[in-house]
Amino acid sequence: MNIKTGSVHSFHGRDVEVLFSRDDITSRLQALAKDIEKDYHGKELVVVGVLKGSFLFMADLVRCISLPLTCDFLRVSSYEGEHSTGDVRMEFDMTQPIHGKDVLLVEDIVDTGNTLRHLLSHLKAKQPSSLRVASLLFKETGRNGRSLVDYIAFEVPNRFVVGYGLDYEGQFRSLPFVGAFI
Ligand code: 5GP
Repeated sequence: MNIKTGSVHSFHGRDVEVLFSRDDITSRLQALAKDIEKDYHGKELVVVGVLKGSFLFMADLVRCISLPLTCDFLRVSSYEGEHSTGDVRMEFDMTQPIHGKDVLLVEDIVDTGNTLRHLLSHLKAKQPSSLRVASLLFKETGRNGRSLVDYIAFEVPNRFVVGYGLDYEGQFRSLPFVGAFI
């Protein structure tokens, strides 16, 4: 199926409008990776993915970055259905020490920035040499969160988005594009 930006498709009984197609994502990630390579030239990175939403973004991004790097993951949850509970729970932490390391945290989407603030203070306590954030998506309504994110692939309107790792009640993660419910 040729899934184009702006087209509408039905999945799991919901109409989903394609905001960013697989091709849009591929070319944007290549540009993002170039910025990251420039900023970390001569360094080795620890890339930390926030599960579950970042798993596809992280998998594609690290394959575009031509730098020595290691990967780790942690998991938090704060959403139930389409709404944030406002309560960020760390379900499991990363496993490798990051003291003195250059760390790039990889998020799926930053909305209020609440989750990210929580994660940044958690990781800063581990005393990395540097800590930056890459997010696939940033909601236009993100208020104070913008200054927390160093690399943003796409800005999105204030709509509930799914696909390319992002879910609604466990579904839609495997869609190869980012879409919004209609
Ligand atoms: P924040 O704490 O910045 O308000 O929200 C961040 C987290 O909420 C994201 O990591 C993601 O799990 C979830 N989230 C926020 N907006 C959306 C959305 O539009 N769609 C999906 N699937 N998750 C979202």
